[in-house]
Amino acid sequence: MDPTELFFLGVDSRLSFKSSDVETASVDFGMLGKAKPRAVLHPASADDVARLVKAAYESANGFPVSARGHGHSINGQAQAVNGVVIQMSDSEGTRFGSGKPFLPQVKEKEKYVDVWGGELWIQVLKSTLEHGLAPKSWTDYLYLSVGGTLSNAGISGQAFHHGPQISNVHELEVVTGKGELLICSEEKNSELFHAVLGGLGQFGIITRARIALEAAPQKVRWIRVLYSDFSTFTRDQEYLISLHAQPGSQKFDYVEGFVIVNDGPTNTWRSSFFSPRNPVKINSLGAPAADGGVLYCLEITKNYDGSTASDIIDKEVNSLLKKLDFIPGSAFTTDLPYEEFLDRVHKAELRLRSKGVWDVPHPWLNLFVPKSRIADFDKGVFKGILGNQANGPILIYPMNKNKWDRRSSVVIPDEEVFYLVALLRSALNTGEEIDTLEYLENQNRQILRFCDEAGIIVKQYLPHHTRQQEWVDHFGDKWGQFYQRKMEFDPRHILATGQLIFEPSF
Ligand code: FAD
Repeated sequence: MDPTELFFLGVDSRLSFKSSDVETASVDFGMLGKAKPRAVLHPASADDVARLVKAAYESANGFPVSARGHGHSINGQAQAVNGVVIQMSDSEGTRFGSGKPFLPQVKEKEKYVDVWGGELWIQVLKSTLEHGLAPKSWTDYLYLSVGGTLSNAGISGQAFHHGPQISNVHELEVVTGKGELLICSEEKNSELFHAVLGGLGQFGIITRARIALEAAPQKVRWIRVLYSDFSTFTRDQEYLISLHAQPGSQKFDYVEGFVIVNDGPTNTWRSSFFSPRNPVKINSLGAPAADGGVLYCLEITKNYDGSTASDIIDKEVNSLLKKLDFIPGSAFTTDLPYEEFLDRVHKAELRLRSKGVWDVPHPWLNLFVPKSRIADFDKGVFKGILGNQANGPILIYPMNKNKWDRRSSVVIPDEEVFYLVALLRSALNTGEEIDTLEYLENQNRQILRFCDEAGIIVKQYLPHHTRQQEWVDHFGDKWGQFYQRKMEFDPRHILATGQLIFEPSF
């Protein structure tokens, strides 16, 4: 069926062929490639989503259908060449055109919230805070959709003890690739539930998610400390994330970190914290010569309530900091409301937008690196391939594998502790070779080749592969299950074809 024929199928009222809608759905945050759908659906309900997918599934010729959340993918994962993109989120805030919005519904006693699959996390936060509650596990940036992050994992500095966002979902409502609208959870349709979580949009479209909540803290003490020695840095990070296993012990609520190679125009995503309230220059710290010219910053937070006396929080934080071996005098501390901390990257977005360096190509590379090889990765990549020059922030933080559910579709390294390394780069017109798209894409390939040749078994997070054999290698021993689930829930390969995992069967 040609998607234009959908006009006659009862989803017509919100099906758009407008060039502005088609244009928006053709691109994403990565800005690395364009692929035009025939039409864009602005769904008014889960039933609209189901009707469209059913039409694609039942028609003799079929056509691809991709859910698009906030379009913050890098490599066209939410695109649907010649098909229909379902615009689940709407950047203008009018989510459903003329439809009735499904607003987040908080159940205070049961501590969960039901949200539309296209809802942005910022909205989930605002709605739940009204009840003194908040989700437990986050992403660093909140202008991402619930369906989009749950299709990957959703990680940030809370993942070491709460697990990724996909470990904090009670129930989903999903439209499968056959157009069935199903509720699934641990108890009900559990195969579909686990398939969809981290499932790269391959098995169904999430129309509603039930997310676990906790009492929201009011304030956050946010601390950064510096290291010049990589092994000391990672030892401290690993110590901090091991505390989750000691019930009753004091621990930080968030553990992340980043690598400081240089301070280019987009590194201000992270380094702004050192100024202006903490105007200390890194090189004025009298620190030992940085290891290979590279510094490492540990970023931690402690949550507390407004009623907690400041000497109590000082005492708790200091007793934890005492166990760490950072460069003396390199601690930078600030206190801020919980919401402001969680929404911190949005401030950086506004700053980068004002400089015209937000809507640019983003050849990002996100890798999960096993703990046993992280030192080799440091030597080979941070102190090797990057050659003392970096473009954009480089995040590095460890997580505990036991907080990830093996039944989900996501792939992680086979070690108890593994690291996220995120090279968040932007191609800019600075005249410097290091800022060009070609250079950065080449460097990404070089990093992957280095890992391969050094036998460092990394797994891409937000993976991008273009050939099925690469996907088979990515999934490893999970491929058989992934394939079976695809055959069961989306046998015509209609959904999320932009991931390039399965060839559409039409
Ligand atoms: P889209 O790009 O719209 O879609 C992504 C994939 O999910 C597509 O395949 C799409 O078809 C599918 N999909 C979308 N909605 C649904 C749905 N309702 N049901 C089923 N499938 C669906 N990730 C982290 O984990 N932690 C971070 O801290 C983090 N920070 C980020 C910061 C920025 C500035 C950016 C650009 C990205 C960041 N990400 C982070 C990555 C982000 O989580 C993923 O790119 C995510 O997919 C983006 O959500 P989206 O709504 O924009 O998804």
